[in-house]
Amino acid sequence: MSIVRDLYRLQRIDLELDARRSRVREITALLEQDSVLREAEAQVASLQNTLRPQEAHATDLNLEIQSVGEQSGELSSRLYSGKVSNPKELQDIQEKIAELKRRHTQLEDRLLETMINVEELQDALRAANTHLSQVQSERAGEQTALSEEQKQLRREIRALKQDRETVEQRISPDLQELYASLRAQKKGVAVAVLQGEMCSGCRVDQTTMLVQRVRRGQEIVRCASCGRILVAD
Ligand SMILES: [Zn+2]
Repeated sequence: MSIVRDLYRLQRIDLELDARRSRVREITALLEQDSVLREAEAQVASLQNTLRPQEAHATDLNLEIQSVGEQSGELSSRLYSGKVSNPKELQDIQEKIAELKRRHTQLEDRLLETMINVEELQDALRAANTHLSQVQSERAGEQTALSEEQKQLRREIRALKQDRETVEQRISPDLQELYASLRAQKKGVAVAVLQGEMCSGCRVDQTTMLVQRVRRGQEIVRCASCGRILVAD
């Protein structure tokens, strides 16, 4: 009875379709998933946000150092110009110069610390940018390969669906219904091959009489244990 063979053929087509559809779904999820890229982008953004205020701070410190230097220079010129003779005023100027020098030293220390921070952040930012470029280029290659695979799978699915229609036309609506309901209940496998005396679907041995009926192939015989349609191998 070729109808069992047709059902078996339908089963193999359906399993191939199941596998391809599942891979298409997997690829769709992979193409949408971009957590590694987002993480690399966030790392760059975060370092840029930390670096910018530090660079601004360094610029401010440089301007202040320049201004303190100028003030100190002006006072020194005044001190040594010979124009000031009042001892109290001379002392005031000297004190003011000393104060500006202390301020200058403090500012230079702070600038040094800031520049160390800036350089460390710049190094980290360079590394983060390199990593981001790598992730972007890897991802581009990966996406092309996945898209190609998906296209190929879709072509195969179309061909399998055509085969399926041809086979299905040879099967009666009643059997199509039985097949569909078994597929739904039995993890996608409605037709099981008889391996020796064992059902390959549930791995339970069948009676000799049942095995003979399957081998004759003249009727639909179902596994005594799981109910799948049996086909001789
Ligand atoms: Zn079985």
